[in-house]
Amino acid sequence: MRLGIFGGTFNPIHMGHLITAEHVREAFDIDRLIFVPSARPPHKPSPELIDGVHRLEMARLAVADHPRFDVSPIEHERSGRSYSVETVEAFHQEWGGEATLFFVLGIDAFLEMATWREPERLFALCNFVITSRAGFPFDQARQVLSDILGITPPAEAQHVALPQGRTLWFHSVLPIGISSTLIRDRLQRRRSVKYLLPGPVESYILSHHLYSDSNKRS
Ligand code: ATP
Repeated sequence: MRLGIFGGTFNPIHMGHLITAEHVREAFDIDRLIFVPSARPPHKPSPELIDGVHRLEMARLAVADHPRFDVSPIEHERSGRSYSVETVEAFHQEWGGEATLFFVLGIDAFLEMATWREPERLFALCNFVITSRAGFPFDQARQVLSDILGITPPAEAQHVALPQGRTLWFHSVLPIGISSTLIRDRLQRRRSVKYLLPGPVESYILSHHLYSDSNKRS
């Protein structure tokens, strides 16, 4: 059993997340890929961050037609800030014996890892797949690995050995210039978001009046 954990704020989930997840699932032969919307992310405190209940529901709608994708409410069920180390630890306890865990995150998020809670413990818990994102070259990741683990991989290394026999891979995905910021911005300006995210997610946003100015004021 190969289990992927894909964390993010998903505010809202969009095609960039889904295409990236699908290509990682395929490349790493992942049996089940679980999207984990962050309830109270320490790094993205923002007035634009809508209630986790909506972000969770949109993620569920987005993956409903994929037999290998799933959504976990684990960070919403826990009180306090959402720390990845606690989430991965919980998955490790539940699945560790029978599953190989892959924590999937974009290079933009990875570059902030030195500021996360207990990053060295996180590195010992699972494998990592770091995906590409425009504007964030992989070579900057060497500094992060050096700061946290004292490892300096050769430039251009495509994978790095981690403690406890784990591996970190750098994986280039199809560049897709969609972000949640772009979608929120378009919604606020009453522009179309069709095809930037799944149809059911678009319908959910429109029917709940999410990300509109009136919603922000309420
Ligand atoms: P925001 O614009 O609000 O900062 P975002 O679009 O970056 O949000 P997140 O929920 O923060 O979305 O992203 C979760 C993960 O998905 C991150 O690791 C990020 O690198 C990755 N990701 C988001 N958008 C894309 C994209 N278009 N292509 C590849 N990876 C992406």
